Amino acid sequence: MKIGSRGQIIWVVCEVKAGRALEASLELIGEAAVLANSADGDYAGGVMDGSAGRDLTGRAVAIFPSELFAGPEEKLVAEAAAAGASEVVFLAGRKARAADMADDGFFAREIAEAAALERPDTMLMAATTLGRSVFPRTAALLGTGLTADCTALRLDRDGTLVQTRPAYGANLLAEVVCEHSRPQMATVRPGVFSLPSPGAGKPVKVRKIRTEAEGSGFYRVLSSIDLVGAAGADLADARVVVAGGKGVGSAEGFALLDRLASLLGGAVAASRSAVEAGYAPYARQVGQTGRTVRPELYIACGISGSIQHRAGMSGASFVIAINTDPEAPIFDYADYGIVGDLHEVVTMIIKTLEHLHK
Ligand SMILES: Cc1cc2nc3c(=O)[nH]c(=O)nc-3n(C[C@H](O)[C@H](O)[C@H](O)COP(=O)(O)OP(=O)(O)OC[C@H]3O[C@@H](n4cnc5c(N)ncnc54)[C@H](O)[C@@H]3O)c2cc1C
Repeated sequence: MKIGSRGQIIWVVCEVKAGRALEASLELIGEAAVLANSADGDYAGGVMDGSAGRDLTGRAVAIFPSELFAGPEEKLVAEAAAAGASEVVFLAGRKARAADMADDGFFAREIAEAAALERPDTMLMAATTLGRSVFPRTAALLGTGLTADCTALRLDRDGTLVQTRPAYGANLLAEVVCEHSRPQMATVRPGVFSLPSPGAGKPVKVRKIRTEAEGSGFYRVLSSIDLVGAAGADLADARVVVAGGKGVGSAEGFALLDRLASLLGGAVAASRSAVEAGYAPYARQVGQTGRTVRPELYIACGISGSIQHRAGMSGASFVIAINTDPEAPIFDYADYGIVGDLHEVVTMIIKTLEHLHK
């Protein structure tokens, strides 16, 4: 069923960490708020659909599975509203046990039940570890399709969500549509949309949806350790990223990049080859199968510039590449290129900066 020319209701299923909405969820709310009233002006607000009798104003709805997260609701509402949500909904299922936090099937059942009730047009979730597990299950329960790991979204005139994602080892970008079923569902890579600047605080509707979903009882949480967050937390909002590739040659070589990054107030990243060689931890990997970064300055040291690496750093405002090979593809998308040995070049930059800092 095509939606036709009316406002889109776009659900963004949000994650909460330490009582705050995840940045990746807020990025999606911002994008959903724009999309909800896009489609070449087709989505005029306030019209009523005769069959469903529902208000057809396009809107971004933030969905929080609240009982599990037990976050402070006012704070989450304020964060979602500032990002552009017109409505905030807390799913209030049967009293969940702590162990259900490990039960992705529980989340999926809760979200699917609420979606079957309310029939949103589109549902989005960040392609985090949780999103990548929960959303495919939710789609299966709803009998609809899902496009995983999108890097761009747009709505066409009839309300079809055109979902762009890398395909064939990221050698091309595929546009995927879900033609015959609703809701249309996508997970989106964290960092592909910018964090929206806080809005003017327009009033939002806050409500609860009661669900019957229950945990499976299969899980028992003994303890939890955040391995990725601790190692690469500084990368997410670093304004300067100094990235090392296979050309760095060793884990010790990364100490030089650490020094440069700390002088520039930035963070260190790595290519997949550098991670596989054991020079840097996976938490620092940038690219298709790593993180997405959007710094103001990205310094690529000894990185050839594969399309898979580029997938994670193409949002950088300014790129400097240092490489011994003048034909390296990274130079095709660098603003400044330095042909030379990275150890010599980085050492020279460090000495200059240390001199300036004296
Ligand atoms: C499905 C899939 C997913 C992938 N996901 C990712 C991903 O998320 N992130 C990612 O990065 N890659 C990813 N890859 C791997 C990707 O294809 C490349 O293999 C990888 O990015 C290459 O890393 P690199 O540039 O460090 O190494 P290389 O391609 O080996 O390049 C090393 C570069 O260092 C230069 N060099 C050597 N010595 C020096 C020196 N002393 N000074 C200066 N320059 C020097 C060389 O000239 C060369 O250009 C993926 C691949 C596939 C198939």
